Order: sequence, then structure tokens, then C-alpha cells
Amino acid sequence: MSETQSAFVTGASRGIGRAIAKLFASNGIRVTCASRTIEALDEVVSEIRESGGEAHAIRLDVSDMSDFASAVAESADKFGSVDFLVNNAGIVKDNLLLRMKENDWDTVIDINLKGCFNGIKAVTPIMMKKRSGRIINISSVSGMMGNAGQANYSAAKAGMIGLTKTTARELASRSITVNAIAPGYIATDMTSDLNDQVKEDLINHIPLGRIGTADEIAETVLFLCSAAAGYITGQTIAVNGGLYM
Ligand code: NAD
Repeated sequence: MSETQSAFVTGASRGIGRAIAKLFASNGIRVTCASRTIEALDEVVSEIRESGGEAHAIRLDVSDMSDFASAVAESADKFGSVDFLVNNAGIVKDNLLLRMKENDWDTVIDINLKGCFNGIKAVTPIMMKKRSGRIINISSVSGMMGNAGQANYSAAKAGMIGLTKTTARELASRSITVNAIAPGYIATDMTSDLNDQVKEDLINHIPLGRIGTADEIAETVLFLCSAAAGYITGQTIAVNGGLYM
């Protein structure tokens, strides 16, 4: 097996996950792109291959623990190991608390928070055996400061920060680091529904005066996977233009 490093990225079909997968690939890292449907991954996988990178597509529902375990086993089989896991897949189902349905609570917790737990469970035996690994969990500014209309999402994203700290402590003795990134508002499909007035109001609250890009989150992921970040664990890196300090 080659010593080339390999990464597993969930929710890689679009937005932030897609930018992460492409940046890994352009830095010579073999990347497994996972998403709910394999067809949704066609474009990103072809783009990576056309630019000389190595990518493998896997269908995965992150909320299903056994699905995640088989996807990681397939990825390790294909690329020899899993050096980096990025728990990026996420969804929103926003509503004010009084109107929030039980199902909207459960689904958002299952995908964002339990999905992250499932991913960590799946890669940990591989990384422990290798005595190295980097796990990056994509949380949110909503998990740090709360956000009206996002009781489910902010609870899930805050939960990911606690999960990050605990797993960082548990896995440190095996030289595995676990960190979270908390993006602010980033231009992706997730935020494309916001109307112009809401966007303008938002920008007025962001000290850097603009919405962020998926590439800016991807660069932070790449840094956390680099040798330069070897002494960073259990942290939540805010990439939010100063929206929350
Ligand atoms: P997006 O909606 O554009 O993409 C989400 C990706 O997750 C898609 O590929 C989708 O197919 C995948 N996904 C959803 N449910 C899944 C499941 N059950 N199993 C596997 N894959 C699933 O969103 P995005 O803006 O790129 O967000 C990526 C991550 O960043 C999410 O965790 C999101 O909560 C977080 N985030 C985004 C923003 C933002 O402003 N866009 C801000 C803070 C945090």
C-alpha cells in the first residue's frame, strides 16, 4: 500500500464538503467523498480525477451507524487507511421553538450530532491501530452563540463541541487529534434561501463585512490536518469574520 495520506469527507457533494474534498485532492491526499446519493457525487469526483487527484465515491447516510462503519471499511480498503475524517454532513430544519416539530428536532440531532459520533466510532479503531489521525468536526457559530429559530441545530452543533473535547481527551494518548471548526455564514446552498434583506442585515453584524466562502473553511481543515497543527486538539476554531468573538 502507498503511504499517500487519505481523507474521508462526509457531505462532499456540494458546498463546504465539496471544497474540502477538492482541496485535499489538490494537495495530493486521496479522498473518499461520501453523501446520501452516489449520483450527487459524480461531479465532484470527476472534477478531482480530471485535475489529477484520486477520489472514491461512497453512498452514506451518516445517521446510520452500520452504514458509516461499512463506508469507512470500504474507504480503508480502497486507500489503505483513513488518516483524516471530516464530519461535515449537516442539515437545518429551522423553526421557532413553539412551532418546531418533534421530528425536526430528531432528524437534525440524528444527522448533525449522532452522525458525527458515528463517524468517530467508525474511524477510531483504524486510527488507534496506526497511532495517528486527525478528526475535524464541522460545527457552527450557532452552536457557540445560539440563534433564534435553530433550537435543534444549535443544540446539535454545541453537542459536537462537547463531543470534540471528550474524544480529544480520550484519543490524545494515541496521537489522534480531534478539533471542531465553527463557521459563521458561508455562501452555500444551505444559506442560499436567505433573502437579500436578511443577507444585508447579517453582513452588517459581521465585522469583516462579508459572508465567508467554502474555500476558507476548507483551508482551515487542511491546516488542522497538517504537521503544523500537530499540537492542537480539543479546540473549536471559529471562522466567522468576527461575527462571534
Ligand atoms: P449543504 O447543504 O450545501 O451541504 C450539505 C451536505 O451534507 C450535502 O452534501 C448533503 O448531501 C450532505 N448530507 C446531508 N445529510 C446527510 C446525511 N444524512 N448523510 C450524508 N450526507 C448528508 O451545506 P453546507 O453549507 O456545505 O454545510 C456543510 C456543513 O457546514 C454542515 O454541517 C453545516 O451545518 C455546516 N455549517 C454551514 C454554514 C453555512 O453558512 N453554510 C455555517 C455553519 C456551519
